[in-house]
Amino acid sequence: MGLNALFRWLAAGLAMVVLALVVHAALHERHVLKQAEDGLQALQRLRRVLSAGEMLSRERAPSFAVLRDVGHESPLRAREELMAARLDTDRAFAAATADLAALGEEDPSYRRVVTAVDRARLLLDEVRLSVDSEVSRQDSSRSAHVARDIARLREAHALLEPAVADLAGRAQRAYPDLTPPLQGAVLAARLREVGGLLAAGLRPAVVRGTPFTPEEDDATHLQLGRLDQLRELLDSYLDGYRGTDAVASARQQLRHGLFGRGAALIDQIVEAGHHGGPYPVDALRFGELIVPDLARAFDLRNALLDDAERQALARRNAARLDLQVMATLSLVALSALALGLWLVHRRVVVPLSQTARVIHGLAEGRHDLTVPEARADDEIGAVLGAVRAMQKVQILQQTMEEERAQLITQLSQLSNTDGLTGLLNRRAFFEQAERELATAQRHGFHLSVVLLDVDHFKAINDSYGHGVGDEALRAVASTLAAQIRTGDLAARYGGEEFVLLLGHCDAAQAFKSAERLREAVSQLRVADPLGGAFALTASLGVASTGQHGLELQHLLSVADAAMYRAKRTGRNRVAGAEPAPAPPPAPMSPPVAPAALPGPPPSAGGGRLPEELGAKG
Ligand code: GH3
Ligand code: MG
Ligand code: MG
Repeated sequence: MGLNALFRWLAAGLAMVVLALVVHAALHERHVLKQAEDGLQALQRLRRVLSAGEMLSRERAPSFAVLRDVGHESPLRAREELMAARLDTDRAFAAATADLAALGEEDPSYRRVVTAVDRARLLLDEVRLSVDSEVSRQDSSRSAHVARDIARLREAHALLEPAVADLAGRAQRAYPDLTPPLQGAVLAARLREVGGLLAAGLRPAVVRGTPFTPEEDDATHLQLGRLDQLRELLDSYLDGYRGTDAVASARQQLRHGLFGRGAALIDQIVEAGHHGGPYPVDALRFGELIVPDLARAFDLRNALLDDAERQALARRNAARLDLQVMATLSLVALSALALGLWLVHRRVVVPLSQTARVIHGLAEGRHDLTVPEARADDEIGAVLGAVRAMQKVQILQQTMEEERAQLITQLSQLSNTDGLTGLLNRRAFFEQAERELATAQRHGFHLSVVLLDVDHFKAINDSYGHGVGDEALRAVASTLAAQIRTGDLAARYGGEEFVLLLGHCDAAQAFKSAERLREAVSQLRVADPLGGAFALTASLGVASTGQHGLELQHLLSVADAAMYRAKRTGRNRVAGAEPAPAPPPAPMSPPVAPAALPGPPPSAGGGRLPEELGAKG
C-alpha cells in the first residue's frame, strides 16, 4: 500500500476513534446534565406540591371556624378568612399543577403524581361545596357534618402523599447525596400535618373542659406516637447532615418550639385530659400558643428545600459547564487532529510521494519531472533539496554525455574525412570498402572500383597557384559526390587522385558510370585568378569484382593500371583492365556469369571497351 493510501486509512481510523471517544464523552455529559435538570425539576415540583399540601392544611382551621362559628367575633370575619385561605390554596394548587398537566401526557411515569394532585384537588372542591352548603343550612344537623368535612379535608391532604413520595424519589435518584435534606423536608411537612392533627384532636376536650373521651384518648396516643416516630426519623436523617445555617437555626427553633414549649403544653393538656384536671389554657390560647410552634416545621421544611435546591442548582450548572467545556475541548481536539493530519499530509505525505515519483523518474532517466517546492525548512525540505540537487547533477551528466557523444561523432567524422574535399579519406575508404566487399560476398552482388586522376594537375598548380589547384580539387570532389548513388563510396585517394566504390554495379555499368563522371569533370569550369575560367579533365580506370575478384588491393591495382593506361592512351578517358592473368583465387564463386556482361569477355575486350567509351568523350 502506498504511503498516501496508508495515511488516508490511518487518518480515517484515528478520526473515527477520536470522534467515537468525543461522542461517547459528550453523550455521557449530556446524560449527567439531563439527570441533573430532571432532578432539579422534580425538586421544584416537590416544593410546589408540599406548598399545596401546606395551604390545604391551613384551610382546615378557617373551614372549621366557619362551620362551628368559633374563634371569631363575627361570622363575616370568619368567612373572609376562609375565602383568603381558599385563595391561597387555589394559588398553591395552580402553581403545583401548572406544568404537571402537560407533563402527565408526555411522560407517563408522571401520571401517578398528576393523578394524586388531581384527586386531592377534586376532593377539596367537593368538601368546599359541602362546607358552603352546611354554612347556609344553619340547622342542628350541621355539627354531624362538620366532623366529616374536616376529616375529608385531612383525606385530601393525605391524597397528596403519593405525589410527594414520587417527586422526592425522583430528586433523590438524581442527587443521592441530597437524600437527608429531601427526606428531611418531607418529614418536616408530615410532622406539621401530624402536629396539626394532634392539636385539632385535643381542642374539643379543651373547649368542653372535660376529660378525653376514649376515642379522643386513642387518637391522641396515635398522633403522639406518630409525632415521636417522625421526630426520630427526622433526627436520623439530619443528625449527620451539614446543612446551611438556616437549616441549623430552623432545627433549633423546632426543637425549642414544637418539641420544647409545645410538647410541654401538649403533655400538660394530655395529663389534664386523662385525669380530669383543669386544662392549663383555654382553646383560644392553646391555638395561639401551638400554631407558631407548628409553623416552625414549615420553616425547617423550607430551609431544607432551599438548601437542596441551591445544591441541585449548583450541580446542574456545573454539569452544564462540564458539557460546554467538553464540547469546546472536543471541538478543539478534533480541529487540532484535523489540522495535524492536514499538515502531515501536505508537508510529508504529498512531497514524499511526489519525490518518490521524481526519484523513480531519475532512475529511468527522465528529468522533466518537477521536484515539489519545500513547504518548510525541515527534514522533508532537506530531502527535496537533495533530490533537486541529484536531478541537476543527472541533467548535467546527461548534457555532458550528449556533448561527448556529439564530439565523438564529430571526431570520427573528422578522422574519416579528407580535410580539403570533405570526401572520405583513404583510411576510411579502405575500412568501409572492406565492409562493403564482405557484404557483397555474403549477398552475391557485384561491386566496381573506379580510380580517377586529374590530368596535368601539376600544370594547373603551376599556372594558377596551389590555392586554385585546391579549388579545382574541391570542384572535382563535389562533382563526384553529386554523381554517385546513396551507398556508393567516394574518397580522396591521394594528391589529385580519387577512388569510388560503386555498389550493385558490374563492369559494364561501372564503365557507363565512369564515363558519366569523366564527362561531368570535363564540363567543370574553375575560376582562375585573372577572372577567367579553365576546364580540366581526368583519366579513369575501372575494375569490377565480376572480373577481378573481391580482393580490394587487387581491384585497386587493376583500376590503377587501367587508369595509367587511360593516361598513356591520351588522357580524358576511361579504361578497363588490361587482359591480365586470372585474379587470385576468390573465396566465392563469381555471382554473375561473364556471359551476362553486355560487352565482350574481359580476356578479349577488357582493353578495347574503354577505348571505345573514351573515344566518345
Ligand atoms: P598527369 O597528367 O600525368 O597526372 O600529370 P600531373 O601533373 O597531374 O601529375 P603529377 O604526378 O606530375 O603531378 C601531381 C601534382 O599534384 C603534384 C602535386 O604538387 C600536386 N598536388 C598533390 N596534392 C595536391 C594538393 O593537395 N593541392 C594542390 N594544389 N596540388 C597538389
Ligand atoms: Mg597523380
Ligand atoms: Mg595527374
